[in-house]
Amino acid sequence: MADLVGPRLYGCYKCQNQVSRHDDIVSKDFQAMHGRAFLFSHTMNIVLGPKQDRQLITGLHTVADVHCKDCGEVLGWKYERAYEQSQKYKEGKFVLEKYKIVKENW
Ligand SMILES: [Zn+2]
Repeated sequence: MADLVGPRLYGCYKCQNQVSRHDDIVSKDFQAMHGRAFLFSHTMNIVLGPKQDRQLITGLHTVADVHCKDCGEVLGWKYERAYEQSQKYKEGKFVLEKYKIVKENW
């Protein structure tokens, strides 16, 4: 793969499985448990865990853990449902923790 003009990607920090595109970042200003995180409109090559309700700083949400499809590492979570009107924009989007993804093809 010597294609230098492809999209800028992020990969799993453990196995380099490609999980998201730079162009799909909605927000870089997310705070996760262990530091900064990015909000993505799409991800790929991931597996979702069971849905669960979580009380977050911004209110009650239904979320599902995002696992790397190749190595099973938890990379972040998906917002399945937000109950607060102001948080509805996050529904169907994915949060990946910054320290768990690495730049690929940049
Ligand atoms: Zn992985």
